[in-house]
Amino acid sequence: MNLFRLCQAEYRYQDGTRAVEGMDLTVEPGRFYGIVGPNGSGKSTLLDLLLGYKEPVSGEALFRDRPIASWRRRDLAREIALVPQEFALTFPFSVEEIVFMGRYPHIPRFGTPGQRDREVVARIMEQTGIRPYRDRSITELSGGEKQRAVIARALAQEANVLLLDEATSNLDIKHGLQLLHLVRERQKLHGATVVSVFHDLNQALRFCDELIFLKQGRL
Ligand code: ADP
Repeated sequence: MNLFRLCQAEYRYQDGTRAVEGMDLTVEPGRFYGIVGPNGSGKSTLLDLLLGYKEPVSGEALFRDRPIASWRRRDLAREIALVPQEFALTFPFSVEEIVFMGRYPHIPRFGTPGQRDREVVARIMEQTGIRPYRDRSITELSGGEKQRAVIARALAQEANVLLLDEATSNLDIKHGLQLLHLVRERQKLHGATVVSVFHDLNQALRFCDELIFLKQGRL
C-alpha cells in the first residue's frame, strides 16, 4: 500500500502564486525520500500538503488511501512526526519538556506520562546528545542545540513517518550527520518512512533511497 499519494495536486496561495502544480507523487513505506530544489520551488508547500496543513485546491492528497484532510489530527500525530525548519517557541519550556511533547499523542487525554514514556524520552535525549542540558530552557539554547531538541521530540513520537524540513540546516557537519544517522536507523530498524527536504545535495545522496526534484512547483 502507498503511504502518501498525490494525484494532480495543485496548491495556490491567496495572492495567486502557484506553489504546487499538477503533482503526481507516490511515497512508499519504509523508504527514505529527499526533496531538493531551489528556493521557492515548492518544497515547504509540498510538505504542508503531506501534513494536511494545506489542502490542494484541486487534485487529491491521500494518506493511507484516505484524504489527508479527513484524518483526525491526533490520529495523524501518532503516524507522522515533523521536524520544522523554524521553531518559534517563546515559552521557556525545558529541553526535557520539549522532548516529552513528542509523547503526547500516546498519552491518554488527562493522563500523565508512564514508565515507558519516560524511558523513551531518556534514551532519545542520550542518543541525540542533549541529556546534559535537559533542564535548561529552550529559549536559552543556541540554534543548533534547539534544533537537536526538536529532532529529539520528533524521534520520541515514535511515528511511522518522519517529515523533515531542512532539519539539519542549523547544525555543524558532525551533529548534522549524527542526527541523519539516527533518522536512518529509525528507517532501517523500525521500517519508518522518511521524507526530508535537503539543502545539501551531497547529504541527500548519502542518505536517500529516492530523490524528488522540484522546480517552480513541478516535479
Ligand atoms: P521552498 O520551500 O522550495 O523554498 P515554498 O513552498 O516556500 O518553496 O514556496 C513556493 C512558492 O510559493 C514560492 O514562489 C513562494 O514565494 C510562494 N509562497 C510561499 N509562501 C507563500 C505565502 N504565504 N503567500 C504567497 N506565496 C507564498
